[in-house]
Amino acid sequence: MVELILDILLPHNACALCRKPGVYWSRKPWCEECDTRMQESREPLETCRRCGKYLCSGGVLCTECEEKDPPFFIARAVGPYENGFKIAVKILKFLCRRYIGVRMGVMMGKVVANEPQFWPLDLVVPVPISEANLKQRGFNQGEVLARQVARTIKVKMDAHVLVRVKETPSQRELSKQEREANLKNAFQVQHGQKIRGKNILLVDDVYTTGSTVKECVQVLLDAGANRVAVITWATGKGY
Ligand SMILES: [Zn+2]
Ligand SMILES: [Zn+2]
Repeated sequence: MVELILDILLPHNACALCRKPGVYWSRKPWCEECDTRMQESREPLETCRRCGKYLCSGGVLCTECEEKDPPFFIARAVGPYENGFKIAVKILKFLCRRYIGVRMGVMMGKVVANEPQFWPLDLVVPVPISEANLKQRGFNQGEVLARQVARTIKVKMDAHVLVRVKETPSQRELSKQEREANLKNAFQVQHGQKIRGKNILLVDDVYTTGSTVKECVQVLLDAGANRVAVITWATGKGY
Protein backbone atom coordinates (compact mmCIF):
# COMPACT_ATOMS: atom_id res chain seq x y z
CA MET A 1 0.00 0.00 0.00
CA VAL A 2 2.76 2.45 0.95
CA GLU A 3 4.59 1.46 -2.21
CA LEU A 4 1.46 2.22 -4.22
CA ILE A 5 1.03 5.66 -2.68
CA LEU A 6 4.69 6.55 -3.26
CA ASP A 7 4.51 5.29 -6.83
CA ILE A 8 1.54 7.56 -7.51
CA LEU A 9 2.68 10.63 -5.56
CA LEU A 10 6.41 10.89 -6.18
CA PRO A 11 7.73 12.40 -9.41
CA HIS A 12 9.63 10.17 -11.84
CA ASN A 13 12.75 11.32 -13.68
CA ALA A 14 12.07 9.87 -17.13
CA CYS A 15 9.18 9.52 -19.59
CA ALA A 16 7.45 6.22 -18.77
CA LEU A 17 7.33 5.25 -22.45
CA CYS A 18 10.54 6.46 -24.14
CA ARG A 19 12.66 7.16 -21.01
CA LYS A 20 13.45 10.74 -22.08
CA PRO A 21 14.71 12.53 -18.93
CA GLY A 22 12.44 15.11 -17.29
CA VAL A 23 9.96 15.44 -14.45
CA TYR A 24 6.95 13.17 -14.79
CA TRP A 25 4.20 12.10 -12.43
CA SER A 26 0.94 10.16 -12.43
CA ARG A 27 -1.06 12.89 -14.18
CA LYS A 28 1.63 13.28 -16.86
CA PRO A 29 3.68 10.07 -16.97
CA TRP A 30 4.90 10.43 -20.57
CA CYS A 31 6.41 13.21 -22.70
CA GLU A 32 4.72 15.46 -25.30
CA GLU A 33 6.30 13.56 -28.20
CA CYS A 34 4.98 10.23 -26.95
CA ASP A 35 1.57 11.84 -26.43
CA THR A 36 1.54 13.22 -30.00
CA ARG A 37 2.58 9.88 -31.43
CA MET A 38 -0.28 8.18 -29.57
CA GLN A 39 -2.82 10.77 -30.76
CA GLU A 40 -1.64 10.24 -34.33
CA SER A 41 -1.94 6.46 -34.16
CA ARG A 42 -5.59 6.65 -33.08
CA GLU A 43 -7.03 9.27 -35.37
CA PRO A 44 -7.32 7.98 -38.93
CA LEU A 45 -8.77 4.59 -38.04
CA GLU A 46 -12.42 3.54 -38.43
CA THR A 47 -13.91 1.39 -35.66
CA CYS A 48 -16.58 -1.31 -35.45
CA ARG A 49 -19.76 0.35 -34.22
CA ARG A 50 -20.37 -2.37 -31.62
CA CYS A 51 -17.05 -3.62 -30.27
CA GLY A 52 -14.82 -0.66 -31.12
CA LYS A 53 -12.18 -2.78 -32.89
CA TYR A 54 -10.25 -0.99 -35.59
CA LEU A 55 -11.44 -1.95 -39.04
CA CYS A 56 -8.65 -2.51 -41.52
CA SER A 57 -11.04 -2.65 -44.46
CA GLY A 58 -13.65 -0.05 -43.49
CA GLY A 59 -17.34 -0.83 -43.04
CA VAL A 60 -19.63 -0.52 -40.03
CA LEU A 61 -19.25 -3.80 -38.13
CA CYS A 62 -16.32 -6.20 -37.81
CA THR A 63 -16.86 -9.73 -39.13
CA GLU A 64 -17.18 -11.11 -35.59
CA CYS A 65 -19.96 -8.72 -34.56
CA GLU A 66 -21.66 -9.31 -37.88
CA GLU A 67 -21.63 -13.08 -37.26
CA LYS A 68 -22.75 -12.93 -33.65
CA ASP A 69 -24.17 -10.04 -31.65
CA PRO A 70 -21.84 -9.38 -28.69
CA PRO A 71 -23.48 -9.44 -25.23
CA PHE A 72 -22.44 -5.84 -24.44
CA PHE A 73 -24.24 -3.02 -26.19
CA ILE A 74 -21.12 -0.97 -26.76
CA ALA A 75 -17.37 -1.39 -26.29
CA ARG A 76 -14.81 1.32 -26.93
CA ALA A 77 -11.09 1.88 -26.37
CA VAL A 78 -8.80 4.88 -26.20
CA GLY A 79 -6.51 3.65 -28.99
CA PRO A 80 -5.14 0.73 -31.01
CA TYR A 81 -3.10 -1.96 -29.25
CA GLU A 82 0.20 -0.94 -30.83
CA ASN A 83 3.05 1.56 -30.34
CA GLY A 84 2.64 3.73 -27.22
CA PHE A 85 -0.69 2.14 -26.30
CA LYS A 86 0.90 -1.31 -26.21
CA ILE A 87 4.02 -0.13 -24.36
CA ALA A 88 1.83 1.58 -21.72
CA VAL A 89 0.02 -1.71 -20.96
CA LYS A 90 3.28 -3.60 -20.62
CA ILE A 91 4.74 -0.96 -18.31
CA LEU A 92 1.64 -0.98 -16.11
CA LYS A 93 1.26 -4.76 -16.06
CA PHE A 94 4.71 -6.26 -16.20
CA LEU A 95 6.88 -3.51 -14.74
CA CYS A 96 4.12 -2.78 -12.19
CA ARG A 97 4.31 0.99 -12.65
CA ARG A 98 0.91 1.73 -11.23
CA TYR A 99 1.26 5.49 -11.57
CA ILE A 100 0.96 5.23 -15.35
CA GLY A 101 -2.52 3.72 -14.85
CA VAL A 102 -3.78 6.99 -13.39
CA ARG A 103 -3.38 8.84 -16.68
CA MET A 104 -4.60 5.84 -18.68
CA GLY A 105 -7.76 5.60 -16.59
CA VAL A 106 -8.47 9.31 -16.88
CA MET A 107 -8.19 9.06 -20.69
CA MET A 108 -10.55 6.07 -20.68
CA GLY A 109 -13.02 8.00 -18.51
CA LYS A 110 -12.99 10.86 -21.02
CA VAL A 111 -13.91 8.50 -23.85
CA VAL A 112 -16.90 7.31 -21.80
CA ALA A 113 -17.88 10.85 -20.79
CA ASN A 114 -17.89 11.97 -24.42
CA GLU A 115 -19.86 9.05 -25.88
CA PRO A 116 -23.61 9.46 -25.18
CA GLN A 117 -24.29 5.78 -25.98
CA PHE A 118 -22.58 4.77 -22.72
CA TRP A 119 -25.10 6.60 -20.58
CA PRO A 120 -26.79 6.23 -18.12
CA LEU A 121 -24.31 4.33 -15.90
CA ASP A 122 -24.69 3.17 -12.29
CA LEU A 123 -21.58 1.14 -11.48
CA VAL A 124 -17.99 0.67 -12.68
CA VAL A 125 -16.65 -2.92 -12.42
CA PRO A 126 -13.12 -4.09 -13.31
CA VAL A 127 -12.41 -7.45 -14.96
CA PRO A 128 -10.93 -9.51 -12.11
CA ILE A 129 -7.57 -11.28 -12.51
CA SER A 130 -6.68 -14.69 -11.09
CA GLU A 131 -5.42 -15.14 -7.52
CA ALA A 132 -2.08 -16.34 -8.89
CA ASN A 133 -1.62 -13.19 -10.99
CA LEU A 134 -2.78 -11.04 -8.11
CA LYS A 135 -0.20 -12.63 -5.80
CA GLN A 136 2.55 -12.27 -8.36
CA ARG A 137 1.78 -8.68 -9.42
CA GLY A 138 0.34 -7.42 -6.14
CA PHE A 139 -2.47 -5.53 -7.87
CA ASN A 140 -5.12 -5.86 -10.55
CA GLN A 141 -4.33 -3.49 -13.40
CA GLY A 142 -8.03 -3.45 -14.34
CA GLU A 143 -8.87 -2.16 -10.87
CA VAL A 144 -6.21 0.58 -11.07
CA LEU A 145 -7.77 1.73 -14.35
CA ALA A 146 -11.37 1.30 -13.16
CA ARG A 147 -10.73 3.48 -10.10
CA GLN A 148 -9.60 6.38 -12.29
CA VAL A 149 -12.40 5.84 -14.81
CA ALA A 150 -14.92 5.93 -11.96
CA ARG A 151 -13.39 9.12 -10.56
CA THR A 152 -13.37 10.81 -13.95
CA ILE A 153 -17.01 10.04 -14.78
CA LYS A 154 -18.18 10.34 -11.14
CA VAL A 155 -19.77 6.89 -10.95
CA LYS A 156 -19.23 4.42 -8.09
CA MET A 157 -16.74 1.56 -8.53
CA ASP A 158 -17.05 -1.91 -7.00
CA ALA A 159 -14.11 -4.30 -7.44
CA HIS A 160 -15.70 -7.11 -5.42
CA VAL A 161 -19.01 -7.87 -7.16
CA LEU A 162 -17.35 -9.75 -10.00
CA VAL A 163 -14.77 -12.36 -8.99
CA ARG A 164 -12.63 -14.89 -10.80
CA VAL A 165 -13.30 -18.29 -9.27
CA LYS A 166 -11.35 -20.46 -11.66
CA GLU A 167 -7.68 -20.31 -12.55
CA THR A 168 -7.38 -20.14 -16.29
CA PRO A 169 -4.14 -21.07 -18.02
CA SER A 170 -2.70 -18.44 -20.38
CA GLN A 171 -5.12 -17.72 -23.21
CA ARG A 172 -2.48 -16.68 -25.70
CA GLU A 173 -1.88 -19.99 -27.43
CA LEU A 174 -5.50 -21.09 -27.58
CA SER A 175 -8.01 -21.13 -30.42
CA LYS A 176 -11.26 -19.19 -30.08
CA GLN A 177 -13.23 -22.30 -29.06
CA GLU A 178 -10.56 -23.31 -26.56
CA ARG A 179 -10.57 -19.83 -25.04
CA GLU A 180 -14.32 -19.93 -24.58
CA ALA A 181 -14.22 -23.39 -22.97
CA ASN A 182 -11.32 -22.25 -20.80
CA LEU A 183 -13.30 -19.27 -19.53
CA LYS A 184 -16.57 -21.13 -18.83
CA ASN A 185 -17.50 -20.71 -15.16
CA ALA A 186 -14.33 -18.70 -14.52
CA PHE A 187 -16.27 -15.67 -13.23
CA GLN A 188 -18.99 -15.27 -10.63
CA VAL A 189 -21.09 -12.45 -9.21
CA GLN A 190 -21.09 -11.91 -5.46
CA HIS A 191 -23.73 -9.75 -3.78
CA GLY A 192 -26.10 -10.01 -6.75
CA GLN A 193 -28.33 -7.27 -5.36
CA LYS A 194 -25.63 -4.73 -6.24
CA ILE A 195 -25.88 -5.74 -9.90
CA ARG A 196 -29.59 -6.29 -10.40
CA GLY A 197 -31.21 -3.76 -12.73
CA LYS A 198 -28.00 -1.73 -12.96
CA ASN A 199 -26.28 -0.18 -15.98
CA ILE A 200 -22.71 -1.37 -15.67
CA LEU A 201 -19.42 -0.21 -17.16
CA LEU A 202 -16.91 -3.06 -17.36
CA VAL A 203 -13.23 -1.99 -17.42
CA ASP A 204 -10.25 -3.92 -18.79
CA ASP A 205 -6.82 -3.04 -20.16
CA VAL A 206 -6.97 -4.62 -23.62
CA TYR A 207 -9.67 -5.95 -25.91
CA THR A 208 -8.19 -8.40 -28.40
CA THR A 209 -10.35 -11.45 -29.06
CA GLY A 210 -12.91 -10.13 -26.60
CA SER A 211 -13.39 -13.61 -25.04
CA THR A 212 -12.69 -12.53 -21.46
CA VAL A 213 -14.75 -9.37 -21.68
CA LYS A 214 -17.69 -11.16 -23.32
CA GLU A 215 -17.68 -13.89 -20.66
CA CYS A 216 -17.70 -11.25 -17.87
CA VAL A 217 -20.52 -9.34 -19.56
CA GLN A 218 -22.58 -12.52 -19.87
CA VAL A 219 -22.06 -13.35 -16.18
CA LEU A 220 -23.17 -9.82 -15.20
CA LEU A 221 -26.27 -10.05 -17.42
CA ASP A 222 -27.11 -13.51 -16.04
CA ALA A 223 -26.92 -12.01 -12.55
CA GLY A 224 -29.57 -9.46 -13.53
CA ALA A 225 -27.65 -6.43 -14.80
CA ASN A 226 -29.81 -4.23 -17.01
CA ARG A 227 -27.07 -3.61 -19.57
CA VAL A 228 -23.30 -3.66 -19.75
CA ALA A 229 -20.94 -1.36 -21.64
CA VAL A 230 -17.20 -1.91 -21.94
CA ILE A 231 -14.25 0.47 -21.90
CA THR A 232 -10.68 -0.68 -22.44
CA TRP A 233 -7.42 1.21 -22.82
CA ALA A 234 -6.53 -0.43 -26.12
CA THR A 235 -8.19 -2.61 -28.72
CA GLY A 236 -7.07 -4.86 -31.52
CA LYS A 237 -7.59 -4.60 -35.25
CA GLY A 238 -10.31 -6.56 -37.02
CA TYR A 239 -11.90 -6.92 -40.42
ZN1 LIG B 1 8.37 9.87 -24.21
ZN1 LIG C 1 -17.02 -5.64 -33.74
